[in-house]
Amino acid sequence: MGQLKLKDLVKVFDTGENEIVAVDDLDITVDDGDFLVLVGPSGCGKSTTLRCIAGLETVTSGQILLDDREITHLKPKERDMAMVFQNYALYPHMSVRKNIGYGLKITTDLDKSEIDERVEETATLLEIEELLDKKPSELSGGQQQRVALGRAIIREPEVFLMDEPLSNLDAKLRTTMRTEIQQLQQDMDVTTIYVTHDQTEAMTMGDYIAVLNDGKLQQLGTPLECYHKPRNRFVAGFIGSPSMNFFDVKRGGNVLEHEAFTYAISGETVDAIDQASDRLTMGIRPEHIAIVDENVENAVRTEVEVVEPMGELSYVYLTIGDATYTASVSGEMRLSSGDVVDVEFPEDKIHLFDTETGEAVKNSRTTETVESASRA
Ligand code: ATP
Repeated sequence: MGQLKLKDLVKVFDTGENEIVAVDDLDITVDDGDFLVLVGPSGCGKSTTLRCIAGLETVTSGQILLDDREITHLKPKERDMAMVFQNYALYPHMSVRKNIGYGLKITTDLDKSEIDERVEETATLLEIEELLDKKPSELSGGQQQRVALGRAIIREPEVFLMDEPLSNLDAKLRTTMRTEIQQLQQDMDVTTIYVTHDQTEAMTMGDYIAVLNDGKLQQLGTPLECYHKPRNRFVAGFIGSPSMNFFDVKRGGNVLEHEAFTYAISGETVDAIDQASDRLTMGIRPEHIAIVDENVENAVRTEVEVVEPMGELSYVYLTIGDATYTASVSGEMRLSSGDVVDVEFPEDKIHLFDTETGEAVKNSRTTETVESASRA
């Protein structure tokens, strides 16, 4: 079992000159066997949260519970968790065999042959058997990261904690290791908390994502939920690549008024934003923008600034008034810088946020797939 609960978790660093609230009242539950990705921009408190869970930082207030047992003040080795770091933290003078087995040697009373057997099993699982007698300096980055994973796996912990474990690897290897870690986590069924600032890792790896900003939880949900039903403008802009486009608009009866266009809204949308303030931010994802004939309702005339062909898709950077925004269109579409086109922001795909609070007042309409993927 390994259900992990953070209750009102706060971590303040007192530097002598000022106080930095790195983790601000975090409430998160990760059920046994679940894979949670903690994601957010640099400095949002991801690593500090993970280090508090591991016992490497003292907690200012709040609680950490593992299967309803309070572990907030236990020493790291008393927590039954294994951590994998970005910089691998391997012992340079030890062979791979010793690096992998070292944790068992110091924390268990297993004899040498039992440890050797477990090391061999772990190395086989990670396909690094032939590296067991090498030193870390003789290994590539990807191989070192596998050894670091081996060191965590061999302990058969209740919880895996991973802090940007792939960020030192090149893009191709990162993609491969991403899949391997997911597979390993599923096979082992161990509760895992994975820290990253990379929203692609967040979208692809976790059962759930916790999006943090300024130490505060912005949203906890499945990747699809955070993508299609962002709770606020921050999550909407952080999750998704290229990012969601935003336009400042003013509500005026049945229309939204932007400085460069007017957008008619249906009665359903009028009702949805009935209680919201007059200043709204309209959001639309690049893939939902369509290039259309001028006679389509709400078509907006716009100029193509740059076209970035990606193969199957092209990213098109467009301008309207002072705003620049991005559309992603079929790679077969012929567009060039300077073209003037009409685009549509389909109403069922637009998001509306209260400009002042950032809270979502209307999200895009989604399919049943997204609804059924929502966190219970
Ligand atoms: P990154 O992605 O850059 O690693 P992060 O989201 O993991 O960022 P943290 O490292 O948790 O962020 O830092 C959160 C905040 O706490 C930052 O403002 C950071 O400067 C501050 N902080 C972290 N560790 C300490 C410390 N030991 N002393 C003082 N401030 C700290």
